[in-house]
Amino acid sequence: MNTEQAIKEALKTVRERKERNDFALHGNRQRAMSSKACAALIDEIRSYTIDLGQAQTTADRSRLVKLRENAQAELDKELAAIGLYSSALQPTYFCDRCRDSGYVNGKLCDCVNKLVRVLLLKSVNVNPDFTFENSTAESANSRAFAKCAEIAEGKTEKRNLLLIGKSGRGKTYLLNAMANRLIEREADFIFMRAFELNRLFLEIHLAQNADKSGFWNELLRVETLIIDDLGSEQAYNNVTLPSLYNLIDERNYNQKATWISGNLAMDEFSARYGERIFSRLCDKRLTYVIELCGRDFRTGLV
Ligand SMILES: [Zn+2]
Repeated sequence: MNTEQAIKEALKTVRERKERNDFALHGNRQRAMSSKACAALIDEIRSYTIDLGQAQTTADRSRLVKLRENAQAELDKELAAIGLYSSALQPTYFCDRCRDSGYVNGKLCDCVNKLVRVLLLKSVNVNPDFTFENSTAESANSRAFAKCAEIAEGKTEKRNLLLIGKSGRGKTYLLNAMANRLIEREADFIFMRAFELNRLFLEIHLAQNADKSGFWNELLRVETLIIDDLGSEQAYNNVTLPSLYNLIDERNYNQKATWISGNLAMDEFSARYGERIFSRLCDKRLTYVIELCGRDFRTGLV
């Protein structure tokens, strides 16, 4: 996917969000109008608002404001009686900046740019030729490949994967094959190399609050997060380790799948990331630890 396609796709997502909200709003309004009491109060409030626009004196204005407030309180009660919040009659926006139009002052809104980034991250790193079908895995690794195919198809008991082994053993190939299986299944995922994730950690760390939560939520929200080559990234002080810990911990807690590959041996992982992160990276209850060795393959090393 190139940038232009990603922008199109992102704008489509924004449009769909708006349509969903509009549809919900329309339904709520219809429900409210089908109640006689609500419909009368909505009318009453509307006429107070019109009168307010024409009110000449401060006394008139405050009298109308008071009347409108009372009618609104009545309406809230009536809406509650039919199971609606008063806010259900107001438009809601996923993005208040562009009101889900995708544009602010003729330029793409940040919410679109964020989606574009995520879309590019999703596909840009996945090699379409690296598939299970094309694989010429050594027979010694065939069990590892079969297990990973099952994980990618959502057929396994545990969701997480830690794929280890020296470089050149096919870890990146295997993660790509898994990602391609997710693409076939139209499943939701992000595929990142560890250094890209690390750069994103730094960006989130330095970002303003709104953007911070945008990126971070995406990393937490996505159903499957694939991180290739963990351990190769340069650790940023006070950023890399705490971010990684929070990410893995929250994803585990929310039952999201995280697949990680790395060149480090288990004791090197533990030394580099510390016991707290290490124990979550290879939590036996959630994670298959698979080593690609060329000759041998073992699971559940820890
Ligand atoms: Zn926006």
